[in-house]
Amino acid sequence: MAKSDYYGTLGVRRDASAEEIKKAYRRLARELHPDVNPDPETQERFKDITQAYEVLSDPNKRQMYDMGADPFAAGAGAGAGGFGAGFPFSDIMDAFFGAAGGGGGRGPRSRARRGRNATIRVELDLRESAFGTTRELVVDTAVLCEVCTGSGAAAGTHPDTCDMCHGRGEVSQVTRSFLGQVMTSRPCPQCGGFGSIIRNPCQECSGDGRVRTRRTIKVRIPAGVEDGTHIQLAGEGEIGPGGGPPGDLFLEIVERAHEIFERRGDDLHCTVQIPMTAAALGTILTMETLDGAEELDIRPGTQSGQTIPLYGRGVQRLNETGRGDLLIHVNVETPARLDPAQEELMRELAKLRGEERPPGKFAPGQQGFFSRLRDAFNGR
Ligand SMILES: [Zn+2]
Ligand SMILES: [Zn+2]
Repeated sequence: MAKSDYYGTLGVRRDASAEEIKKAYRRLARELHPDVNPDPETQERFKDITQAYEVLSDPNKRQMYDMGADPFAAGAGAGAGGFGAGFPFSDIMDAFFGAAGGGGGRGPRSRARRGRNATIRVELDLRESAFGTTRELVVDTAVLCEVCTGSGAAAGTHPDTCDMCHGRGEVSQVTRSFLGQVMTSRPCPQCGGFGSIIRNPCQECSGDGRVRTRRTIKVRIPAGVEDGTHIQLAGEGEIGPGGGPPGDLFLEIVERAHEIFERRGDDLHCTVQIPMTAAALGTILTMETLDGAEELDIRPGTQSGQTIPLYGRGVQRLNETGRGDLLIHVNVETPARLDPAQEELMRELAKLRGEERPPGKFAPGQQGFFSRLRDAFNGR
């Protein structure tokens, strides 16, 4: 059996998109439909283009065909025409009449729909995001209309059954074609597919089933959140129309920058400048951490670029135990200006240390960067 040229039949290129194939088929089908053009030759052509579309509109069959197989030639045998079992009427008819809206579900659709999600931004300072906090938030939202309890109908009234679709929510249409009678359904235009009509809408909510209001909610923000964290509060969004279930409320965390600490993950970083003499002799500094004032031990011989870690003084890990670290990067300040007495002392010191004409130690790359990394891992 000769393999049909399906692309040629539809007049599309081999690399035509699904949309192009559908368009070509619809254009030809309008022209060649047996209802329009009942002569036998046109009917044959209509079968051909429908068969071509059947194959090319189905990604699997199209792939088979492109690889050299003809799904129809294989399955149809000597039978007539090739419209074998499993011919997808609905697909073809959707392409022809336009997809029937809704799809899937049968019967009237419910007026109740899920409410929208809402997002509100919550600004926290570092201490709040590190340790968690509780906030009272005022949200503009929609709540159930208590007058109609969500039905949308005025008190003492009920929605009337739609007389166009008799409550089914959809209307059917029978079309005659050479394939026989084809029934198509679409949502009822009178009731919008609900199957009922509200003639007396609730005054309070204008038939929406919900009213807008302001609500204050108390939320617990867990320790360890950071800038951009979303917290989902299930069911705290606005209620849906027609008494539908509420959406979710999302809190988006915005973390205000701290004046000293820079947060990276759960660790905090800061820089401290110390004079050269303090670096050489050692000293004790007092610094304000998230946990209050702490003493920072600068050991004698501290180098510029060294990192002093305060373990467990960072941010609480979100949903885990333990905290990040506080890493203090040391910058040693070289005095820029010396008075004569200081210069005298300095020269004396250099002489004692044999550093009057130091050779310098050269090394490849950025030693400072790597030693800082190493310090961060080893602690000094
Ligand atoms: Zn109401
Ligand atoms: Zn209706």
